[in-house]
Amino acid sequence: MALLSSNPSELQMAGSAVPEADLLRHYTRRKHPRFNFLGGCDWDFFTSPSGGKSGIIDNVSQGGCLLRTDETIDHRRWVRILVKEARHNIWFTSVGRIMRREDKMESWDQHGITLYRYGIEFVHPLNQLILEQIKDSCSACASCGDPSATIPDLFQPNTLYCVLCHLRKACHNLLVQDGLDSA
Ligand SMILES: [Zn+2]
Repeated sequence: MALLSSNPSELQMAGSAVPEADLLRHYTRRKHPRFNFLGGCDWDFFTSPSGGKSGIIDNVSQGGCLLRTDETIDHRRWVRILVKEARHNIWFTSVGRIMRREDKMESWDQHGITLYRYGIEFVHPLNQLILEQIKDSCSACASCGDPSATIPDLFQPNTLYCVLCHLRKACHNLLVQDGLDSA
């Protein structure tokens, strides 16, 4: 299977921490297209029976993804990710290694708070059929999955929201701002 050959340029990025500002540029430079597939996942330490943990994956490409979680994971540790995305019927498991980490607290409607963002490099390239499914799902609203998403996110490339989620976000931002101003 030709797909199994590792791409050397993918491996070279195994390095020390990339400054946060460089992270997105880093992604866009990469050879494989990345999809803004934002979804919940279960993950565990591949080599030790520590039980499943929950996280959020994003920026999926053939060679890797971004994993958000509230757990600390050591650099270069092996993790296994299980995605069961019922909305678009996307199910896959992938094993990869932690290559980068960003400390960034983010809050999510359904998934609580995540503290870290890890760049993961898959051991085997993601199956092409899965990638196609992910690609097809990307015109959906990044927040609720509504397929009629038309409003682009100003800060995240290729991320769309439906009208309702866009309004909800806008209101949320206003409230946050209001709270800060009056504090
Ligand atoms: Zn939506």
